[in-house]
Amino acid sequence: MMSDTATAIQRRLDELLEHLPAGVVVHGPDGRILTANRLAAELLGQSPEQLTGTASITSAWGFVRANGRPMRPENYPVNIVLRTHKKVAHLVVGVPASDREPERWLICNAYPEFDAEGALRQVVVCFTDCTALKRAKQRLQKSDKRLRLVLKGSNDAPWDYDMVTQEVYYSERWWTMLGYRPGALPCDKDLWLSLVHPDDRAKVSAFMRGMLEDRNARECYSIEFRLRHRDGHDVPVLSRGFVLRDPDGKPLRISGTNTDLTERKAAERRIYEAAYFDHLTGLPNRRFLIEELDKMLARSHRSGRYGALLFLDLDNFKLLNDTLGHEVGDALLREVAQRLRRVLRHSDNLARLGGDEFVVVLEGLGRTPEEAVAETGHVVDKMLAVLAQPYLLAGRMIVSTPSIGIVLFDGASAGIDTLLRQADLAMYRAKADGRNTACFFDPSMQAAADHQAALEHALRKGLSAQQFVLFCQPQFSAEGQLVGAEVLVRWRRDGGLVEPDDFIGLAESSGLIVPLGEHVLLESCRALARWKDDRVLGRLKLAVNVSVQQLREPAFPRSVGRILADTGAPPERLCLELTESVFAENVAETIQRMHALCDHGIHFSLDDFGTGYSSLAYLKRFPLAALKIDRSFVHDVHVDPDAAPIVEAIIALARKLKLEIVAEGVEHEAQRNFLIDGGCGALQGFLLGRPMPIEDFERSFGGAGAGHA
Ligand code: C2E
Ligand code: CA
Ligand code: CA
Repeated sequence: MMSDTATAIQRRLDELLEHLPAGVVVHGPDGRILTANRLAAELLGQSPEQLTGTASITSAWGFVRANGRPMRPENYPVNIVLRTHKKVAHLVVGVPASDREPERWLICNAYPEFDAEGALRQVVVCFTDCTALKRAKQRLQKSDKRLRLVLKGSNDAPWDYDMVTQEVYYSERWWTMLGYRPGALPCDKDLWLSLVHPDDRAKVSAFMRGMLEDRNARECYSIEFRLRHRDGHDVPVLSRGFVLRDPDGKPLRISGTNTDLTERKAAERRIYEAAYFDHLTGLPNRRFLIEELDKMLARSHRSGRYGALLFLDLDNFKLLNDTLGHEVGDALLREVAQRLRRVLRHSDNLARLGGDEFVVVLEGLGRTPEEAVAETGHVVDKMLAVLAQPYLLAGRMIVSTPSIGIVLFDGASAGIDTLLRQADLAMYRAKADGRNTACFFDPSMQAAADHQAALEHALRKGLSAQQFVLFCQPQFSAEGQLVGAEVLVRWRRDGGLVEPDDFIGLAESSGLIVPLGEHVLLESCRALARWKDDRVLGRLKLAVNVSVQQLREPAFPRSVGRILADTGAPPERLCLELTESVFAENVAETIQRMHALCDHGIHFSLDDFGTGYSSLAYLKRFPLAALKIDRSFVHDVHVDPDAAPIVEAIIALARKLKLEIVAEGVEHEAQRNFLIDGGCGALQGFLLGRPMPIEDFERSFGGAGAGHA
């Protein structure tokens, strides 16, 4: 009976075991398998008979793996229990893939059972398939890792606040962005707000409140503000969030990220500074000034007070830059900016337009022009005084002065362009007035400028209408023989002749001297070619005036070469007259250019010698063939006891340097005699012959014509 019941129970238990959704293997105290259910065999990849018949533990568990490697026998769940007599919970082991089955994961629990005496009776090992769970966890870990990597690179710090449970989460990046170890501060929902910059706090909390309370607000929001770093500096952030709401619109949860904008803000700042500030002096640049001037004009209009625009240009800056180098030039500009800043009020505007040009704008002056002029004069005096102090640059004492042009403005003033132009005109007047001074704009300057503009226009038209004609003035040797001629241009305009002194300056400043000079050179070479076979004219040298601007043109040597080739003029008969202004800048380049022309056979002479930038050292460096004594020295030579020694000295100098010497402006016998006695080689002047149209010159001197004066 008893045994019947026991058998029945056993059968029921066996049945239960068979249908249990877990694998069960029961081991004896020696480790041998006493019984195993079907699922156990299935999960371990063997038949139940195989399993129960297994004598050794190793053959039952030997295939399981932990962390992808075969498990050591002492770590089999059953062996752990046999050894320790303690249960093993939640041990995850792997069953490698076979040709029939894919890789699987099992979660094992094993526990010992003892008899009444406390001796180990058996070990029960249960396991279930947790492959799906394990896979899901792996997937989750993978995407979690991916998310973490993405966030790491994105400069975004995630956070999350569950408004129902009041749970707050600040990510690691959130803390480190502000210089804290994670959790270094008490972590509540208002922590972030306490770290917002005090000036931004009201704005931010109002925004958040409004957004959360508005039940129809969009789910996503973004706001920029500054957070305080642990070390006190500001961290500009863009906070982007997502609000989860219940169907009534009540917010349940809010999550988002803070993006560190420090680098972006710095880049924006750099772009802004590059666009609006001068990198050399750090002053606002032209663009900034133009944009500000608009506002200043509007302010003047509103306040009824005058303003003043001061245009400041350093005197002889170019010369300093070229002779002492750009580094000294840059240092001077920086120092000028600093000195000006010192004498100006904080509210005065100072900008650098470029080069050596600065602009100062004074605002809020008096309500009458008289008051405004007086106040501006006061500031200008201070500016002139501070800039006139010597500068110590690169170990040298340097003196630099400015010329300042001033224009007043009020609400009714014309536009910015006009004001800048007027101040510029006044600045040029200040330069003409002897520099180191200031000059207020007045309308007569505008009239003069308009006149210049009209003249320039006429000059341009005259050039295309072939209104420029060549005159020639003969040059004679001491013995009275015709040796050459100087070409002098005239402008045939409105039935009259305009003298070069009235238009060469403008042609130079407007750049028109380049095409004009080319025209003169071409016509001169044509004449030389025509004269080639003439008994008298064929021996003459033709001197052509060349402005320094022409020589500076990179294309100049090429265009001379082309003219010579096109006309067939003999180059050795052509002499180019330069003035001492060629000594002023780019000396090395000028010399190189002159040598290139000398290679064609052309000669050079130095015009108006003694009036300009006379550096005797340069005389030897430039490839010159002749010096022309300026007519101002010749003029006085027979009357002024001081002029005679100068002329004698110039002749002696020319002889020493093996240069020919030509005296110009000879009007009197006494001058001629003095020059010939002094050893001057050639003479030119009204006494010997006035400039005449080139056709007349050819007629007078050409062919069988007179060879002697
Ligand atoms: P410059 O090169 O010194 O030319 C000599 C000037 O002295 C000429 O004036 C000539 O007419 C004048 N002159 C000649 N003999 C006498 C004299 O005995 N007494 C006085 N008082 N003057 C005399 P012009 O023709 O009016 O030319 C003036 C300046 O214009 C020239 O001075 C030269 O610098 C410039 N120029 C003339 N033609 C050209 C040209 O084709 N190209 C360039 N770049 N400049 C030119
Ligand atoms: Ca000349
Ligand atoms: Ca001259």
